[in-house]
Amino acid sequence: MFKVERNMPPWGHCVQIGDPVLREIADEVPKELIKSPEIQYLIKQMKVVLKDYRLVGIAAPQIGISLRIILMFCGEHLKDVITPETFKAREMSTFPLTVFINPELEVVDHRKIIIEETCASVVGFVAEVPRNYSVKVKAFDRNGKEFQHTFTGWNARIVQHEIDHLNGILFTDLMNRKSFRCTNWEIVNRKAGRIVIPFYPKK
Ligand SMILES: [Zn+2]
Repeated sequence: MFKVERNMPPWGHCVQIGDPVLREIADEVPKELIKSPEIQYLIKQMKVVLKDYRLVGIAAPQIGISLRIILMFCGEHLKDVITPETFKAREMSTFPLTVFINPELEVVDHRKIIIEETCASVVGFVAEVPRNYSVKVKAFDRNGKEFQHTFTGWNARIVQHEIDHLNGILFTDLMNRKSFRCTNWEIVNRKAGRIVIPFYPKK
């Protein structure tokens, strides 16, 4: 019987840059195992962490499991935290919570769009990252059914970022290096350095 071990991946937190799991080429999920309790549990745990950290995307290696699974979720709540101008400028659009197993990416439009990006595995930093404008993704859903979707703008960026995680690539490998900055650099000055950046979820 499948039993959940404590203090072992899949974690309830996001691992950080330096963790070797983020540099591995993740394994494909054998199709016949997609519906197994282990894979379904992993997906469930990814959803928990996505929600706890309020992320728009997560990849299984980020919770310590080197398998080719990503989740994406761009809910209506984004409109509460992002101004309509930014929403429009970034070509953002809402996208339901979706599981992609063994995703395959094909670039549809190679034009490079440069926007600032963060990652729950590079806490406290942000940088400008060039990404392809449009991509097509083919994957299996959580029931093992094949589907495909074409993304443009912001959602294309997210899905490229998450699939990069499955190939051991982080945004710091692709960023414009001089744009790399600490998200809290101003507060560090205001508080005379006395601030703490949490690595645990905000909840
Ligand atoms: Zn990331």
